[in-house]
Amino acid sequence: MASIALLGIPYDGDSSYRRGAAGGPAAIRAEITRVRQYSSMTTEGGLDLDRPGLLIESGDVPVTDPEGTRQAIGTAIGRELHAGHRVVALGGDHSITYPILHAVHHTLGRVDVLHFDAHPDLYPVFEGNRYSHACPFARSFEDGLIGRLVQVGIRSQNPTLRAMAERYNVEQFTMREWAGPPRLSFERPVYISLDLDGLDPAFAPGVSHPEPGGLSVRDVIATLQKMEGRVVAGDLVEYNPDADATGGTGVVAVKLLKEMLHTMA
Ligand code: MN
Ligand code: MN
Repeated sequence: MASIALLGIPYDGDSSYRRGAAGGPAAIRAEITRVRQYSSMTTEGGLDLDRPGLLIESGDVPVTDPEGTRQAIGTAIGRELHAGHRVVALGGDHSITYPILHAVHHTLGRVDVLHFDAHPDLYPVFEGNRYSHACPFARSFEDGLIGRLVQVGIRSQNPTLRAMAERYNVEQFTMREWAGPPRLSFERPVYISLDLDGLDPAFAPGVSHPEPGGLSVRDVIATLQKMEGRVVAGDLVEYNPDADATGGTGVVAVKLLKEMLHTMA
């Protein structure tokens, strides 16, 4: 069983509307400490994530200016993959996924992406910023980094985004047509990108862009548990502790992280 590195990326410099996601890694680590007390790090499938050698705490990527941060993300992800580790990045806003996918592609070649989100994040440019958290998958397709992009939970789309989804043959499981957790199977290595705003704000209000009518915690877990494929890396992004007055979204974030790690292990 390969070791999985947890890498914090406390960066929200490409978030639109509001900041706060930079506090995500520290808040998630604090919640992991509490989970060990009120629950455990054992997944629903019975895997103890605290078994020796499985999880590696790799600290935080140094955050500087946007370009420097993207380079630091690529360096850190490359280091973990070259060491033979799988890796989960704790965001941070969703802009971090583009430099991560660059490093994944450089090391492992083209991957397929399973993406949970209210938003397709396919804008060619957003508010003048090509690196916005609304753009990572447009950049990734342009650079040929990814094969399939399967999006689950989409419920905020306009003609621009729809045209981009058609252009790149994006497979969308929208909330408007929701028929329960899909059974997905992937040929290429898989990257999982989990934007917490894919969940309904009733389950996860602690995000910068809440969008009602979304996925339940169980919808996400069931999709992960049914998925067939070899997961090599992933991220958990857009958790905003400043918007999480009760701390309940942190509890949900760690629950989903555990099940993502199980899928990866
Ligand atoms: Mn997103
Ligand atoms: Mn989103």
